[in-house]
Amino acid sequence: MRGLMMDVPLTTTAILRHAERMHASQQIVSLTADHPSPADPWRYSFADLAARTRRLANALCRKGLRQGDRVATLAWNDSRHVELFYAVGGAGLVLHTLNPRLAPEQIAWICNDGGATLLFAAPEFAPLLDGLAAGLEHVRQVVWLTDAAHRPQGNSALATAANDYESLLAAESPDFDWPAIDEREANALCHTSGTTGNPKGVLYSHRSTVLHAMAGSIADVIGMRATDTVLPVVPMFHVNAWGVPFIALLNGARLVLPGRGAGDPATLATLINGERVTLALGVPTVWLALLQHLEKTATTLPSLARTIVGGAACPPAIMDEFREKHGVETLHAWGMTEMSPIGTMNAPMPGEEKLDDAGRRARRAKQGRAVFGVDLRIVGDGGAELPWDGRAFGALQVRGPYIAAGYYGHDTSPAHASGWFDTGDVATIDPDGFVQITDRTKDVIKSGGEWISSIELENHAVGHPAVAEAAVIGVPHPKWSERPLLLAVLKSGQTVSREELLAHVAGRVARWCVPDDAVFVGEIPHTSTGKINKLALRERYRDHYAKESPT
Ligand code: AMP
Repeated sequence: MRGLMMDVPLTTTAILRHAERMHASQQIVSLTADHPSPADPWRYSFADLAARTRRLANALCRKGLRQGDRVATLAWNDSRHVELFYAVGGAGLVLHTLNPRLAPEQIAWICNDGGATLLFAAPEFAPLLDGLAAGLEHVRQVVWLTDAAHRPQGNSALATAANDYESLLAAESPDFDWPAIDEREANALCHTSGTTGNPKGVLYSHRSTVLHAMAGSIADVIGMRATDTVLPVVPMFHVNAWGVPFIALLNGARLVLPGRGAGDPATLATLINGERVTLALGVPTVWLALLQHLEKTATTLPSLARTIVGGAACPPAIMDEFREKHGVETLHAWGMTEMSPIGTMNAPMPGEEKLDDAGRRARRAKQGRAVFGVDLRIVGDGGAELPWDGRAFGALQVRGPYIAAGYYGHDTSPAHASGWFDTGDVATIDPDGFVQITDRTKDVIKSGGEWISSIELENHAVGHPAVAEAAVIGVPHPKWSERPLLLAVLKSGQTVSREELLAHVAGRVARWCVPDDAVFVGEIPHTSTGKINKLALRERYRDHYAKESPT
């Protein structure tokens, strides 16, 4: 017997409507191209946001775009980008967020793959656009995300013909009848970072976006409240800033957006303290830079209660420093572009208070437990499911209503062949369901037939007080096929010898896991989404152990 409940579609417009009705006076605070200073951000209400979004939807329709057409953005986290998130999807179109940190050829390739005809770009990308324009196959129009006074100069035909966003909105009515949309229609497209091969497009639907926003709202997931002030440092071009623009409006939380200042720790500290931010989200490298800035300037963060860290393994040392020096609780999360992205969250469990410090620290270093809506398992080489004993490790697979069923332009992919999505991560799961990622499959170090976790070694290295950041890679070795090599960046003014650092790690792991060598470097390379670029490091240090004796 079928249930007798209303079949009301789950759409992002429903989130915007709810925010306007229930939280009309709540604020969005943003650094933008025309309001770049954290001392004087642009601020307006959710009611204004909703009206501006309707003006934008009118403008999009006037351009003759039809259902399913793609609209691209080259933009930082700012309030106009939030308006695009709602107007584009709400008008039945698909928002394609481009990552401006990628190489120009890669940006052009991704934009062409998505097929957008209209591009909204931050004015600082005028030179980038000049370089890209000839390679863009479908884009016919550009809109600068600023007002008329801050329009950039550009040389390409696209740039010189470009309108500015505020003039576009000023010409439109704030009334717009949102079309009825099937919740399974696409609302956004985001390409994976793709360190090897071409990036792949993940096509989100209204339904998946709303379900993910509801799952993210659970207290032990992100759990925002109307009394929260939330700062997403994670870019909106990286999996929709982990869904924060949707989760914040769904819950009526105040939203603070750092614009291009996301990459500058001083701007972040000023925004956090000036706007009394309670919750901030980002990848570990962002927090590493912020903590170093706070230390150098003797600044604290009294308003900040929580940080959520994901996108790469969060060393426990970062969590310790946040807690001990700033009273900030850090929650470790794991996810992927293909998962909208939240997969697991490490929230405290009852009984955790009985663990000793080391036990609690080891638990917190794990990536956490599956969020509602995410079913997960680990499998061995033959595809058989492995036990949740915290020791067996295998390929981590997932399925659920906000996990991609395939890639844009490809109905199937090898990663989806089993009906589960193979994440490409290797993990253990303990009896309580805590997932621990040991590595990306491609980064696993195989030494003499044994697997060594680079993440575990990195966490121990960063635990040394003199070390700011560490990376461990597998380097070809004549006897063991691969051996770990530790690369470390020291904190400014700190010293430690190679032998001392290796001894520090040796005291914490099995003897055969200890890296054969440690090299101090000025900087560790990162990908465009803030992960350690191990591919580049493996390439650079490929011959490091070549002269070792095979006997
Ligand atoms: P992306 O799709 O760019 O968000 O990258 C997803 C990948 O980032 C995952 O498959 C993991 O390899 C890695 N990742 C994300 N969060 C974590 C985490 N907390 N710990 C370790 N790796 C992570």
